[in-house]
Amino acid sequence: MSRRPRLILSRQALAHNYQHLSSVVGKAECAASIKADAYGLGIEFVAPVLWEEGCRTYFVAYLEEALALRELLHDATIYVFHGFDRRNFDIAKAARIRPVINLSEEALLPKIKELNPAVHVDTGMRRLGIPQYEMDRLLKLVERSKPSLLMSHLAKADEPESMDNVTQLERFNSIRNQLGDACPYSSLANTAGILLGPPFHFELVRPGIGLYGGSPDPNDPKGFKPVVTWQAQVIELQDVAMGESVGYGGAFLAPRPLKLATIGIGYADGYHRVLGGQGELAIDGQICPIVGRVSMDLVTLDVSAIPTIKKGTWVEVMGPIISIDTVAVKANTIGYELLTRLGSRMERVVV
Ligand SMILES: *Cc1c(COP(=O)(O)O)cnc(C)c1O
Repeated sequence: MSRRPRLILSRQALAHNYQHLSSVVGKAECAASIKADAYGLGIEFVAPVLWEEGCRTYFVAYLEEALALRELLHDATIYVFHGFDRRNFDIAKAARIRPVINLSEEALLPKIKELNPAVHVDTGMRRLGIPQYEMDRLLKLVERSKPSLLMSHLAKADEPESMDNVTQLERFNSIRNQLGDACPYSSLANTAGILLGPPFHFELVRPGIGLYGGSPDPNDPKGFKPVVTWQAQVIELQDVAMGESVGYGGAFLAPRPLKLATIGIGYADGYHRVLGGQGELAIDGQICPIVGRVSMDLVTLDVSAIPTIKKGTWVEVMGPIISIDTVAVKANTIGYELLTRLGSRMERVVV
């Protein structure tokens, strides 16, 4: 019987990526964005490794994620990006969870100070954060809430040539200046922002994707190592004749006699259906093209070039040979989406 696809999760690569980012930012504190179950890798795997490497501050999107993380890391500083709901004050207080205040209204609660909140100011993303035209309210809010962190987020950090990064940086610096002595610890950079250089680092950076092995530049890994190796097994081998069609819709016609391997991976595992006829898998370091459509549990692979292949051979879907960013570009998406959509039925092996 064949085995389900598996994810091999490397502690060593994760630790390397954290140390790499830490060394790039020098004196600034390297925190971690660990939302969405650590971008699909699993907080049970990720959080203890990062803690061990010296990471003390974590960002998640929701209170529930923060509470789950608190169970794993008793002494960590944990921020929740998506703001504050006063009905959850007591829960947040008891678990020492810090909200990021996005709208000034939320902080009218006088005792918000007790939560050591962060304040998010918008500098051009127009998604979350206190907008620039609310400067007066920001000043009042900072006075009231005594924030532990001032943050903003870059819209185009992965486009290093864009002048919009400079504009956002200038706005952030100007807000810091206006706050003067009241300005707390500040943070602007995600992974790509870190790579824009020291003016973007401030006192704290909050990378996500780089920790997990994705690069802001699909053509350059930027020193990040793959944390996830995604593998699937050969379930069946077939010889097809010239002119035979393969898979749903007969979408592939064999142009000559071929040896095909049927591999146990499909869109139910998070292998995007758009990769039909586009994707590649690697066997023993050799890259083979997917032919025909991606089904729920299977793909077919042209393995004519690999005579040694057998039923049960493990093939690489993503990892050291086929990088996350290579797969993402072919699937017309980004590494973040690939990771956060990895299917739940796979085996996970931490090494
Ligand atoms: C997710 C997120 C990050 C981390 O971004 P990466 O691009 O994964 O490094 C940082 N800041 C905010 C506000 C985020 O939502």
